[in-house]
Amino acid sequence: MTRSRGGTDGTPLLSVRDLRTRIRTDDGWLHAVDGVSFDVDRGETVCLVGESGSGKSVTCESLTGLVPQPPAEVSSDAVEFDGESVADRSEAELRSIRGRRIAHVFQNPQSALDPVYTVGEQVTEPIRIHEDVSRSTARDRAVDLLRRVGIPRAGERLDSHPHEFSGGMQQRIAIAVALAGDPDLLIADEPTTAVDVTVQARLLDLFRSIAGDGTSMLLVTHDLRVVAAVADRVLVMYGGTIVERGPVEAVFSDPSHPYTQALFDSYGVSDGASIAERTARGEIPTDGCRFRAECPHAVDECAGGAQPAFRSVADSSDHAASCVHYGPDGDPSAIRENATSPMDSRAERGAERRSTDPAESPATPTPDTEGERR
Ligand code: SF4
Repeated sequence: MTRSRGGTDGTPLLSVRDLRTRIRTDDGWLHAVDGVSFDVDRGETVCLVGESGSGKSVTCESLTGLVPQPPAEVSSDAVEFDGESVADRSEAELRSIRGRRIAHVFQNPQSALDPVYTVGEQVTEPIRIHEDVSRSTARDRAVDLLRRVGIPRAGERLDSHPHEFSGGMQQRIAIAVALAGDPDLLIADEPTTAVDVTVQARLLDLFRSIAGDGTSMLLVTHDLRVVAAVADRVLVMYGGTIVERGPVEAVFSDPSHPYTQALFDSYGVSDGASIAERTARGEIPTDGCRFRAECPHAVDECAGGAQPAFRSVADSSDHAASCVHYGPDGDPSAIRENATSPMDSRAERGAERRSTDPAESPATPTPDTEGERR
């Protein structure tokens, strides 16, 4: 995949430094995002991956003022978009950036679509807000967009309301609304979670096509299949911090942080409680390495102070883990011993299931069930 890694002057499209979001709760402050730094380059797809409650969504919502303050407090050293700070913008300025330059797609399309207005009105509105075009030109553009996201008979369906479409179709329409302002950056939060497997595959195709058109994407997901399908780079989050980052091939073939390994090995290490719940119960440390209560490789050095600094993994300076066992003086051999890639672990679990469950047969193609509601 060919990507431009930065602007003409080498600056990333989005640059985030030491983002912190804390939320006041009845039990005190919840440090939902705790010192997060990353870049998204032009034309790049970055996936934020981790369990529910790890801070992925709050990170994205904090970037464009979507986290209500109060009860939250958001601070950062820098949040720069296209070389300009957005950290100190007013709500009116942020609203103008949202939808036009940075568009959000949420897990639940109903939260993005207004049941009162037709699909056509909702797709044409951002076009007309951001461009000086006639009503008929905007409608033509809306039809093109709906076709692009895979809405059949798009021209005829412009005057339908959201409830007349299935959940998968509603998610596609929400993506069309997000794309209507021709954004530079699409932030999509678990966009494939609320739809069935067939629709998921279609949405992944759609995201690949959006990326292929040069739109940068920041994709939040806990689904490693989504990451494998669309990501250029991966940021693994745990307890409000990024614990591993790197090109998708490097992180998948050589998961290096103990949490990434646990996540890849089991697709989740929790006992059923989300990280947010465990944080609220005081089970996740708020200093030192946030993962140390669950880490089989923890040593004294992991406690106290800040989250361990990022240290390069192997030969790749782009691939780094926030773990004391890496770096020039570290010895990660014990960590690496039992590492499996997510694809290995999926294959192994699949083999185990097939060997113990004779009724389970290989997946067969699913018929197209993504219909429209009548
Ligand atoms: S820093 Fe320590 S606790 Fe954290 S992942 Fe590394 S070994 Fe485990």
